[in-house]
Amino acid sequence: MTIKLTVAPHIRDIIRRLTEAGYEAYIVGGAIRDLMMGRAPKDYDISTSARPEQVKEVFGRKRTMIIGKRFRLVHLYHGNEIIEISTFRQAPEETGRITDKQFGKPTPENMIFSDNEYGTAEEDGWRRDFTVNALFYNPLNDEIKDFTGHGIEDMKNGTVRAIGNAALRFEEDPVRLLRALKLVGQYSFHMDQDTEEALFRQMPLIVHASPSRLTLELEKIMKGIYSHAILPAFHRYGLLRYFLPYVDENWDTPATEYAMRLLAGRNKRVAEGQFRDSISVAIATLALPYIERRFCCETGALWPYEPRTLGIIYQVLNEAFQPHHLIKRLSMSADRMLQLQTALVNSNKVGKITGLQGYTHARELMMIQNIVEWHSPTLEKLWPPEPAIEFKPKKRNRDNRRPRR
Ligand code: ATP
Ligand code: MG
Repeated sequence: MTIKLTVAPHIRDIIRRLTEAGYEAYIVGGAIRDLMMGRAPKDYDISTSARPEQVKEVFGRKRTMIIGKRFRLVHLYHGNEIIEISTFRQAPEETGRITDKQFGKPTPENMIFSDNEYGTAEEDGWRRDFTVNALFYNPLNDEIKDFTGHGIEDMKNGTVRAIGNAALRFEEDPVRLLRALKLVGQYSFHMDQDTEEALFRQMPLIVHASPSRLTLELEKIMKGIYSHAILPAFHRYGLLRYFLPYVDENWDTPATEYAMRLLAGRNKRVAEGQFRDSISVAIATLALPYIERRFCCETGALWPYEPRTLGIIYQVLNEAFQPHHLIKRLSMSADRMLQLQTALVNSNKVGKITGLQGYTHARELMMIQNIVEWHSPTLEKLWPPEPAIEFKPKKRNRDNRRPRR
């Protein structure tokens, strides 16, 4: 069937170039869902009959990179944007499944460890996780392919339905438990009854999911603009106790209630283009109420500045995100902006503070608290959006350069 979706021009161009080179190519995944829901896609995934090397040939070596161990796909660079181009694959045969004896640790019998068999577009549709994720769109002729026969209808009704046997699909890859609930939170979808029953039954399998894939999902959720809706969905379905146990244990507390309101504030500002989608700001936003509680018991009250607080901020920050190991750059940046909060609110040494590293992020964290809780008319005016002092790299003295060999 045909349907008119407004696709970014450069994405259309990528599909056109692959088509002109003789390959089949479609937009797939989250972008189709977003476009059908009238939302702006955050990124695009493309699926094609071209093999990774062939994609590289079409777009040239400079713009592309083959990545991935589990399956190889191409990253195509367009300015700051990365577009994922994957080759049609089929569902793995029994040989792709490894039992616990081979793997050396207890894993579900049907867990998939390798799925790198190329296939047709239709086979690629069937190997995907949910019907709403198996829609293939060709922007050149507006054709949408719904191989499972349920995708379009499920999009219309807001239903998350596993493709095939739901219990088996969750067992094959327990990260799908989380992916299903992301759809529930992000779009306010409901779950088809079979899928929901299987999800509850298979939930404990999440402990077998690879920690690095889960941390990647955490980063994606925090970077995106639906964390305030996704985390409550995780809690309602009992996933949060595995994914963010600290937040789950503290769910019915004023601190978590405040954290969700702050996250909603952060997400609204990103959606409105008031600040970039920084992961470290999102992380600091979620952790802030727990830090306040540690020092002064009241939400929205911040904490008095004392040298002893510095180590504690870092400690609470890491505790809130366990069992994930946040990359150092993220946790250090979040720590820095949290440390600056008391100074920003209580000081009037504007010139001094705006020159500090991390000022713009710290200001954003303060603005989030201000729009959600404090509603002070003066803070925004007092603190300029950009640092007053520009960091300029030191000019190198040409005469001191080492001679070229
Ligand atoms: P997001 O908006 O978070 O990017 P997405 O659905 O596009 O959502 P991706 O991780 O980008 O998620 O995956 C792209 C597509 O690849 C999915 O829509 C789905 O069709 C397929 N896919 C991803 N992960 C799995 C999985 N674990 N099992 C089966 N299919 C998957
Ligand atoms: Mg995607």
